[in-house]
Amino acid sequence: MQVETRYRILIVDDETINIGILVELLKHQYDTIVAKNGEQALRRVIEHKPDLILLDIVMPGMDGYEVCKKIKANPDTADIPVIFITAKDSETDEEEGLRVGAIDYVTKPFSSAIVRARVHNHLELKRRGDLLKALSTLDPLTGLANRRRLDEYLAAQWQQLLRSGGMLGLLVLDIDFFKAYNDHYGHQQGDECLSLVASMLKSMPLRSVDLVARFGGEEFVIVMPLTELTALEKVATQICQLLQTKPIEHRYSLIAPYVTVSIGGAGLFPSQETSIEQLFNYADVALYQAKEQGRNRFVMADFQDENKHI
Ligand code: GH3
Ligand code: MG
Ligand code: MG
Repeated sequence: MQVETRYRILIVDDETINIGILVELLKHQYDTIVAKNGEQALRRVIEHKPDLILLDIVMPGMDGYEVCKKIKANPDTADIPVIFITAKDSETDEEEGLRVGAIDYVTKPFSSAIVRARVHNHLELKRRGDLLKALSTLDPLTGLANRRRLDEYLAAQWQQLLRSGGMLGLLVLDIDFFKAYNDHYGHQQGDECLSLVASMLKSMPLRSVDLVARFGGEEFVIVMPLTELTALEKVATQICQLLQTKPIEHRYSLIAPYVTVSIGGAGLFPSQETSIEQLFNYADVALYQAKEQGRNRFVMADFQDENKHI
């Protein structure tokens, strides 16, 4: 959903004349894209991520019900509201339309004013829904993903890698001597320090599949799916270096004049014998070792005893 730009509406109908009428009706207020059959519609949805879809039902090949089901079955597109615009005006048709996931059902011939009003209302609802979703997954202080989003993302990546194979990597970071920072500089500056560390993490050159989250307090987590242990080590080393080259003063740390972190890393190949909890346990043990060994360092979990990472 765009905030600044105009909303984008996909119009799907096999009759050029119907498409023309709807485009004419909406083009002054919205950007319109069109598709003439179900297959094309699904491609456009992925390609253009419209904010709303006006969908005909009777079309050669894949019908509108089927298109709607597919859009709703894909988590990436399920939130896009679909309004059927159709000549099928029986109660059972309408019921089926709503059952497959459409938000609304308009029969032809339609009133232009009512179509415009319904489109407007559903776009407004979508905007509010998107906003709520964004807020419910973000940590307000740092703008990073929050614990809820982290849990969801880890579960989704775990399932994906169970099917496709590949390692799920995890880094757990904890700021060193942060209690002393808070005690001396005050809680508010403590919060600012957390934001600065978060900004630094956001500036890291990570892949789009990597997720940086605030785990809680002064702990952060980076999830790195389909990765290798050497990549985890590289990212962790980079974090320690960045904190050194762009220092945040910390006169009360016992190991450096600036804010440092200790990092534990672990990787697991998702399987029936392994679990997300286990991955966290490994990374936590490694983090504890990093603290024990003097802080401001990275320790990779040692799997030699259990050999469960392969
Ligand atoms: P270590 O080097 O072993 O990690 O020691 P530490 O002092 O960093 O760890 P400890 O767990 O003793 O203290 C963490 C502190 O983090 C305590 C708490 O006051 C502070 N803290 C947790 N969450 C927040 C927050 O949201 N804002 C601020 N300002 N401080 C926080
Ligand atoms: Mg801590
Ligand atoms: Mg700490």
